[in-house]
Amino acid sequence: MAIATALRRFELDTRPIHPDTRRALDRRWAELPEHVKTPNQLLGRCAVGCEGTHGVFPKCNLTCSPCYHSADANKVRIDGDHTVDNVARQMDFLRQVRGPRAHAQLIGGEVSLLSAEDHAQALLAMRAVGREPMSMTHGDFDYEYLLDLVLDADGKPRFEKVSFAAHFDSLMRGRRGAVRPRSEAELNPFREKFAQMFVDLKRDHGVNRYLAHNMTVTPSNVDEVEQVTRDVLEMPFDMMSFQPAAFIGDDRRWREDFGEVTIDAVWERIEKGAGQKLPWQATQFGDPRCNRSTVGMRVGGTFAPLLDPEDPKDIAARDRFLDHFGGMIFGDVPKGVLTVKVIRAIAAHPGDIAPLIGLARRVLRRGGGVRRVLRAARRGKLSFKTFVVHNFMDAEQVAPAWKLMEQGIVADDPLLKETQERLGSCMYAMSHPEDGRLVPACVQHSVLDPIENIELRRILPLPTTRDGIAPQVVARPAGLTAVRSTGQPAS
Ligand code: SF4
Repeated sequence: MAIATALRRFELDTRPIHPDTRRALDRRWAELPEHVKTPNQLLGRCAVGCEGTHGVFPKCNLTCSPCYHSADANKVRIDGDHTVDNVARQMDFLRQVRGPRAHAQLIGGEVSLLSAEDHAQALLAMRAVGREPMSMTHGDFDYEYLLDLVLDADGKPRFEKVSFAAHFDSLMRGRRGAVRPRSEAELNPFREKFAQMFVDLKRDHGVNRYLAHNMTVTPSNVDEVEQVTRDVLEMPFDMMSFQPAAFIGDDRRWREDFGEVTIDAVWERIEKGAGQKLPWQATQFGDPRCNRSTVGMRVGGTFAPLLDPEDPKDIAARDRFLDHFGGMIFGDVPKGVLTVKVIRAIAAHPGDIAPLIGLARRVLRRGGGVRRVLRAARRGKLSFKTFVVHNFMDAEQVAPAWKLMEQGIVADDPLLKETQERLGSCMYAMSHPEDGRLVPACVQHSVLDPIENIELRRILPLPTTRDGIAPQVVARPAGLTAVRSTGQPAS
């Protein structure tokens, strides 16, 4: 009996596509609006989309313009137990609905205001249900905090890999050493210092990293996107993500006409910074008005895209991959299990081997050939890079469009209809186990965050001097980092 159970388990573990993943993908595809069911669509074919937390640590200690956090976010106390409980609950629900594996962002306020221990527990809770967590931060913390996060009480790594998305741009206020930056270039030493911490972490403790660089783009800094791209490409960030600013969150922090910055304008400047075209049309996450991305190999200064949308052989290889291997889980799978899984997948579709090898050859050719790639690898000049633009929508449209969607009404107004189409194809969801819903992040920030914050202020009030409570210490490191106190007690 035990042998039969073990065999069944082994069969499931090594099955190329887990049945829960298959179900989640099929449901995702069925629910997508028709206009995004294009051959290049990845949602419902190899991905369910990204996930994010909400209401788990709303506070932040920087003041940026714009700021997507609710106006009352800083009136909510940081509380590690609340964070970990709610992260676990939200992620459990995502596991039920979205299957055994997805990328999820630990996001809300500033993650480094959590104690290192609470931060680690939240990451572990996410990993426990198959989420690959990424901590979203302004990056203004020290190496000691990172060590406290990654190492357990015995000084041993509790993670093989950590992922962070660090937000750096000149619209941010209050960073130590760059309280009011006048240019993007002024932030380069801070970007480098942040990324270097993770290089040191690998050197000192063998912990791997995935680093994203996030930049909000407004008319003020759009012309600096080109130089930021050039500069950050030389740093050990794996992803460069740009977000044209939207009118969501705290309206006291809306200073400019953000509407002037389009997804095309940002992409053009990224291409100028990269010194070449960055073809993105071969793949699409959700609606093209929301997202644009491309991934490839950087060989020296050349970016070799994984897929060239103009090459029919690349497109044929993409289609074979999506049809036969979309939904395969590679991350966090023991090597032996992964090997059997890959062998089973290839054995089921032996005709895919030649087209996929052909694709790999073409990528190498685009990178300048095998010799150049090997030379670059030896010199540490070989890396994989992803470029992303994510175009959030304004609350003014999201709120009425969502209200109609909840009533099952398709808007007549063209702008609201477009908003509904984009929300319906959303690739970035937040989890509401209390009422069994997943909602787009645009809806979370535009509609739900302010309501949630009212309740959060009630259950996690800031201490007041009237209460005789000492100012709250929000960072309680596990012993190595200096204690930092944020915020004054309300009077
Ligand atoms: S969060 Fe908003 S902008 Fe992003 S994919 Fe979803 S609907 Fe589109």
